[in-house]
This record gives sequence, C-alpha cells and structure tokens, in this order.
Amino acid sequence: MSGASHNFDRRRAVALQSALEAASAPVMRILNRALAGREVSEAEGEALFSAQGPDREAIYKTADTLRERANGDAVSFVVNRNINFTNICYMGCRFCGFAKRSEEAGAEWLSVEQVVARAQEAWDRGGTEVCIQGGLHPRMSGTYYRELVLGIKAALPDMHIHAFSPFEVWYGAAKTKMSYTDFLTDLKDCGLGSMPGTAAEILDTEVRQQLTKNKLSAEQWVEIIKTAHRVGIPTTATIMYGHVDGPAHWAAHIALLRDIQKETGGFTELVPLSFVHTESPLYTASPETVRPGPTVDEVDLMHAVSRIMLHGHIDNIQVSWTKLGAERAVQMLSRGANDLGGTLMNESISRSAGAAHGQEITALEMVQMIRSADRLPVRRNTIYHTVDVFRDHDPEELAPLVARDGAAPLDFLDMFPVREPVQ
Ligand code: SF4
Repeated sequence: MSGASHNFDRRRAVALQSALEAASAPVMRILNRALAGREVSEAEGEALFSAQGPDREAIYKTADTLRERANGDAVSFVVNRNINFTNICYMGCRFCGFAKRSEEAGAEWLSVEQVVARAQEAWDRGGTEVCIQGGLHPRMSGTYYRELVLGIKAALPDMHIHAFSPFEVWYGAAKTKMSYTDFLTDLKDCGLGSMPGTAAEILDTEVRQQLTKNKLSAEQWVEIIKTAHRVGIPTTATIMYGHVDGPAHWAAHIALLRDIQKETGGFTELVPLSFVHTESPLYTASPETVRPGPTVDEVDLMHAVSRIMLHGHIDNIQVSWTKLGAERAVQMLSRGANDLGGTLMNESISRSAGAAHGQEITALEMVQMIRSADRLPVRRNTIYHTVDVFRDHDPEELAPLVARDGAAPLDFLDMFPVREPVQ
C-alpha cells in the first residue's frame, strides 16, 4: 500500500469513528454490529431508515466503509440500451404514467423487427445488453416474449438480453397457460440472459393494494423471482419508494430481498427507484395522501441502509441516474452505491413520468462522473464481469445514435410520450 493511500484509509477510519461517536447510542450499537459483520435485523433497519441528525452521518460513513470492503474503489456501469416495445397496457397501476390505451395518441407497439433493429443499433455502438420491458398489451400473444428473444438472438447471438419484469412473466405464463417454471425455462432456452426485478414496488400487501390493486401480489412476485433464479435466470432487485410507504415498509422489503438471496443467490444488485410523481395518477388523484417522491434525506438513507442491511448478501447497490440525475447519482457513491447502471441509449421510462434526466449517458461521461468522485471506473457486463478498467485510458467517444428503422431514436422518445411504466 502506498503512503498516500495509507493516509487516505487512516483519514477515512478516523472520520468513521468520529461519526459513530456523535451518533445516538442505539444507532451506534447497530452500526458497530454491522461493521463487525453481524446481520442488521428488520427492526434495526427500520430504526436506521428513521434516523435523524448526526445518526445519518454515521449511517452514511458506515455504508461507505462497507461499500469499500465489498467493492474497493471500483464503480461499474454497463453499456446497454433500453427498449420499451409497447406502452399499451390496461393493468391500471396507479403510480404508472406510462401506460396508454391503444386508441390514445402516442400509443405504440413495436414489431419484433423494430426491436431487433434497435438492438442492432445498440450493438453497433458497443452495447452488450438490451433491457427490454413493455406494457401488458391485451392483444399480445403470450409467445411474443419468446419471439422477441429469438429474433434478437438470431441477429445478435452475443447480445445479452435482460428482459421482462415478473409482471410480464405472470402475463405471458397466464396467456400461454404455462407454469412459471416452464415459461421461464423456455425463455432461458431461447436466450434470455437475465430479468429486471421490477414490479416489486414495495412488497407489502396493503401498499400494493393502493399502488396496483394487488394485481401482481407480493407472493406472486416472490414466486416468479425465485423460480427465475431456480431455472438459472439471475435478476436485479428493486424497491420503488416515496409514495404511500415509509421506514417500516422499506426495512421489511429489504429484509425480504435478503431472505430470497440467502435461499437462491440469484440477485445481481439492488436498484432503489425513487417514485416520480409528475403525471402519475396515484399522486394527481390524491396529492394530500401520496407523497411526491422521496425527500433528499430519504434517497440518501435508502442507498446507505440498503448497503448496510444487504452487506454480504447483495453487494452491488446501483444508483439510478435516470431517477436522480447525474449529480445526485455521483453523490450516492458516498452513500453506499457502487454501480451507475446502464448508459441506456434513449431511456424513456423516467422521462415519461416527468423525470428530467436524459436519454443517454455515454461510456465516456460515465467514466468522467466516476472519476469526479475519485473512484475507479469499470465497465462491466450485465452479470458484473469486468469488461474494461479505465485506469489510464478512456472509452471511445460515440457517434450520435442514428436510426436504422425509419424513426430517429432520440425523437422516438417524443413519439413515445410515455409516462412511467416499470411495473
Ligand atoms: S406499471 Fe406496467 S403493468 Fe402497470 S399499468 Fe404501467 S405498464 Fe401496465
């Protein structure tokens, strides 16, 4: 170890110690136990999520220390493309600003060929992953999902397909009258590489009643995720917070994810997703009872407490730059996050519900963001294998995205004036 990094570690240890000493006795006890490698219980997690004043700084420093132990100074990202193949959906989730009825202006349903063309654009620009989700189109056949996977794999055998939320799996399995095991095994055989663990929202029956009328129950979400893991499809884990929820829900949700991980080991990362209230029917119908997204402190605490509760189980905490913007995303790197997610190339989901953050962050911009936090930029693939380490070189500059299938992709967002899907 060099003298400079030894001094840096020492300064970090001193800062942690003084933050712990300034904290209240109960919080200091929980954090010391976490630092000693002991599991933080659900009740302790709730206490951390409810922390005030100097307790918060101690939580942030603890999360940052555990992040450093798990990931060193590396901060990773993946070069990928988001493709939302339809925004037509009648499920009526109340937080969703994305879904449209088929006759509404802006309603869209891409053909398999159009999806493949977008995947090809991503590949040509260095993408290794396509992230594919869509609404639950009433006229879509249950086999559409496998046709998408087969179409992309035929054109791009090495492209990683990260696709279909548990809600879509539930829908496809129901339409095809297949068991979850058979449906997921078939998708895996067709070439599905991994799944987004979206549609989790908050895994609590009462909260889900308000958000989704419990159309996909917490039990169904857990069953589909565990089945995916069992048949060899890894998934992300998510939490959508800042609406009708609070610390008790968050702690229970994170503890449940941890229990699933102990059983299956199939989660690659946790992605906290802040609720974007603009244009969300849930908020516009009841602004007096629904919160307009999490507060600044809640965003900080979500990343930090998740890191602490999941330490040793899910060691990748991803910050969503589409929800928070680049500046806040970089700040989360000192709150326990170690991953910036995907470059996305014309991400449309958060924009659709009013989030102002962009369509694409190029690999070069990712690297610059990570360096601005004094961390080491690492390009990874979807399942966290290292593709490149940018210690002393930069990623290639990318040319602007150019459409191949007739539609200009960046305008595509405006043609797809979506609201929030993301089950
Ligand atoms: S969240 Fe997904 S399933 Fe629910 S209404 Fe929106 S698009 Fe449909």
